[in-house]
Amino acid sequence: MRFTILTLFPEMFPAFFAASVLGKAIAKGILAARALDIRAHALGPHRTVDDRPFGGGCGMVMKPEPLAASIRQAREEEPGSLVALLSPQGLTFNQKAARELAREEGLILVCGRYEGVDERVIETCVDLELSVGDFVLTGGEPAAMVVMDAVARLVPGVLGKGGSAEDESFEDGLLEHAHYTRPRDFEGMEAPDVLWDGNHALIARWRREAKLARTFLRRPDLLLDAPLDKADARALVRWRDTLGEILESQAVPLPAAPSCKGPRG
Ligand code: SAM
Repeated sequence: MRFTILTLFPEMFPAFFAASVLGKAIAKGILAARALDIRAHALGPHRTVDDRPFGGGCGMVMKPEPLAASIRQAREEEPGSLVALLSPQGLTFNQKAARELAREEGLILVCGRYEGVDERVIETCVDLELSVGDFVLTGGEPAAMVVMDAVARLVPGVLGKGGSAEDESFEDGLLEHAHYTRPRDFEGMEAPDVLWDGNHALIARWRREAKLARTFLRRPDLLLDAPLDKADARALVRWRDTLGEILESQAVPLPAAPSCKGPRG
């Protein structure tokens, strides 16, 4: 898969492209990545890439001509690639989006700066807008790295032997279970016994229930859509019954179950 980053700060990318899993995949030719300077398409003696917003107001806007020219050139060089603009106003990027984007031949990731980019470029040159979350970054570069990293590790061969993205958080709708490694006893805290018994069926069940419990405690919203099997349902019923026993055994008065109506009725 081929990644092209269009940016005003290409110097931010060489270390990112060279390090760790992505660096190895690029060295092996499984991935290709380059960062291109939008300013190379700027005209005039000052190679200006930004201008004041029409209508006034603070900040600057990325001028349309250099940006459109860089996107068009990248599209010509990578005809099968999808063009995504990083933007806090875009679709929220998540694991499902990463899986879908990993099927593309290539991605051209466009990094905004300043107050953003001229709207006409978005309308004419961009296939989709991607947000990495409900917060505002100074520029699209860190967001492009997030998207590239999450997508690249799903490209077959990138994680190498022994690496698998399938058991990880969000892949089956749940968060992943906790991990432990040597030593068995770390500062008085023992790793769970079941992980030492070598009983693979029990380990698999422990991991599954650990995923369920962790998801319930941290992200119960995910459980609404997660595909659960009969064993999962049995575990949830067991926990519900245990919780019921705990609540019944408490002497303190328990709050009434919430009504469907809000506090104002
Ligand atoms: N004025 C814009 C707004 O309020 O929507 C924010 C512009 S931001 C300061 C500059 C650039 O950073 C954006 O054009 C975009 O490329 C990038 N950016 C900022 N936050 C982002 C986010 N959450 N996800 C993806 N890109 C983001």
